[in-house]
Amino acid sequence: AGWLGKTALDFEDLQSTLLETPSAENAKEWSRYYTSGPHLAGKNLSQALWTRERWQEWGVESTIVDYDVYINYPKGHRLALMEKKDDKAKETDSSAVSEEEWKVRYEARLEEDVLDEDETSQLADRIPTFHGYSASGNVTAPYVFVNYGTYKDFEELRAANVSLEGKIALAKYGGVFRGLKVKRAQEMGMVGVVMYTDPGDDGALTEKNGNATYPDGPAREPSSVQRGSVQFLSFAPGDPTTPGYPSKPGCPRQPVDHAMPHIPSLPISYLDALPLLKTLNGHGPKASSFNQYWHGGGLDYRGVEYNIGPSPDGLVLNLVNEQEYVTTPLWNVIGVINGTIPDEVVVLGNHRDAWVAGGAGDPNSGSAALNEVIRSFGAAMALGWRPMRTIVFASWDGEEYGLIGSTEWVEEYLPWLSASAIAYLNVDVGTSGPEFKLSAAPLLNRVVQEAIQLVASPNQTIPGQSVYTAWDKHIATMGSGSDFTAFQDFAGIPSIDMGFGPNAKSAVYHYHSNYDSFDWMNKYGDPNFEYHTTIAKIWALIAAKLVETPVLQLNATDYALGLQKYVSAVKAKAKASAQADGLWTPLDEAVRHFLFASTIHDGTAVDLAEQYTHICDIPWWQPWKRAQLYLAIRNVNTKYKYLERKFLYPDGLDGRPWFKHVVFAPGKWTGYAGATFPGIVEGLEEGNDTLVDKWVGVVTGAINGAADWLEE
Ligand code: GLU
Ligand code: CA
Ligand code: ZN
Ligand code: ZN
Repeated sequence: AGWLGKTALDFEDLQSTLLETPSAENAKEWSRYYTSGPHLAGKNLSQALWTRERWQEWGVESTIVDYDVYINYPKGHRLALMEKKDDKAKETDSSAVSEEEWKVRYEARLEEDVLDEDETSQLADRIPTFHGYSASGNVTAPYVFVNYGTYKDFEELRAANVSLEGKIALAKYGGVFRGLKVKRAQEMGMVGVVMYTDPGDDGALTEKNGNATYPDGPAREPSSVQRGSVQFLSFAPGDPTTPGYPSKPGCPRQPVDHAMPHIPSLPISYLDALPLLKTLNGHGPKASSFNQYWHGGGLDYRGVEYNIGPSPDGLVLNLVNEQEYVTTPLWNVIGVINGTIPDEVVVLGNHRDAWVAGGAGDPNSGSAALNEVIRSFGAAMALGWRPMRTIVFASWDGEEYGLIGSTEWVEEYLPWLSASAIAYLNVDVGTSGPEFKLSAAPLLNRVVQEAIQLVASPNQTIPGQSVYTAWDKHIATMGSGSDFTAFQDFAGIPSIDMGFGPNAKSAVYHYHSNYDSFDWMNKYGDPNFEYHTTIAKIWALIAAKLVETPVLQLNATDYALGLQKYVSAVKAKAKASAQADGLWTPLDEAVRHFLFASTIHDGTAVDLAEQYTHICDIPWWQPWKRAQLYLAIRNVNTKYKYLERKFLYPDGLDGRPWFKHVVFAPGKWTGYAGATFPGIVEGLEEGNDTLVDKWVGVVTGAINGAADWLEE
């Protein structure tokens, strides 16, 4: 028997259906389909239509929801190391780079190799190497190696009096979101950015350590290039012309200057970076002479000494980036299974667009898994099952440029989502290795851990091992970098992001490169497609627990315990800046208040769940007892539903008002990694006591408000 009615499957049967339906064969077929052609944002209508057709076939009512968004497509690029012909080398003035005076010392290829063993690499219409939301420009200037180009890296360079103004930055990928590297370089007065992937960040299986490169072995293919967006993220995700509202045709558009770079940037391979890095040998300080600055480099075996530069007199880079900006439609596919309770909704999403023709890992391992999830729920419906709560499935477009499809959709349906969303479950890269990775809002910690105990790990050191036992038990806080951002940070909907990723023994994953291909996945990433089916099972089970158990499987105590940890962390940070101790008293009290209220609320929930298992024992002549139990459960669930919303602050964070959550935000200068209590932390970092006071007050108010809400 189900909640408020009857359903043909009990929970155990539903669970078995969801665990037994996903098949590796199917996942492989979907992977092959999605990776068979370019699917950049705004260029993948056929894949949207195909996806919708499959979902309909499996019994899920689906529609296409489109937006008109502002994005760029590549037109041309060039990167050349130029050498002055005569010895009047001193004035390396950009306006003076003429054919007579300068010759090309190295012309970067800016292309990935075509490989016999990799069909995707052979496609005629493969996507050029470029950056989403990059600025067009043609600059010629000396260049400086800026390590990862993090905020801290630039601070150390400045402290060491390395002159950055007017130069081009040569940066390693890694550490922080790439758009923030360009943002900081621009703020330092630099005129362009070149980014490459250093194999020193590839883990153990590198060429330097004696491994063959892809396709012959697990090491990085030397010509591989990481594409990616360089939007500023710290401003807001989504279409930069419509912050906070949906990009519907004809809607007003805002200026975009503060949301994306003014200086051009290009991504390159380590092969193309080698001559540039070697040119710096012996020029300027060694990167390793900086204390915190240096984290190692992997091209020493190829003769790179990793000097900072600047490049010697008479040697400059010419960087050309030509982008075409358009306002163009993109297409989300939205599927719905209506539940009996109309205003309790769980959303599952994955993006469909990719930078490359392949995208076997990012995002199509997730897209293939989502199809298997939907097929599994379809199989349950074919047995007569109907969910208690509504399930929404989303195949997002435009994630890669800046989480566009998901953000526009959340902005459009905000009133409905605010009133009804229970949780958002995101899978981006479903698998690129064997290690289970999880970020979660604390309310969802428990349900995820319970679900993964029920799913067998494909990678068993002990027979019968579940994903839970094989997992390192680390739960990251929610940062950004995928489609959960608008749900968590803008709408206050508790979210998770999960998938399987590489470990120390994994083949190098070619993120945002042509070699994130079906052939790579089939040979190295997930040859049996068993991680594809495993993530599908986990995803479906979490959804089932959330839509199908009468008392919502959220846990407020975990939230309170999380807050306690975040308060300790922020206090530790404040110690350095000698804040008055009394400042924290109200915050400590609020957290204690919330912990108290949460413990009681979760206790009531457990109690009601227990009572519900005996609902059949309520005598037929006492129907009001049944009604009372239903009402009590409904009340507990409503409190859970709105709990995360209580942490939204309508004015948003300082300087980035789109971000409304006072507990979680992407780090202002990290992007991917989450910051907890971002307002307080930024106040501390700026040494601004007024801001710290303001945010301690705001956070204290939110936590007390949440506790009051539970106690109401
Ligand atoms: N996931 C994409 C990336 O990391 C998009 C992130 C974003 O623009 O926020 O490049
Ligand atoms: Ca918008
Ligand atoms: Zn992705
Ligand atoms: Zn991506």
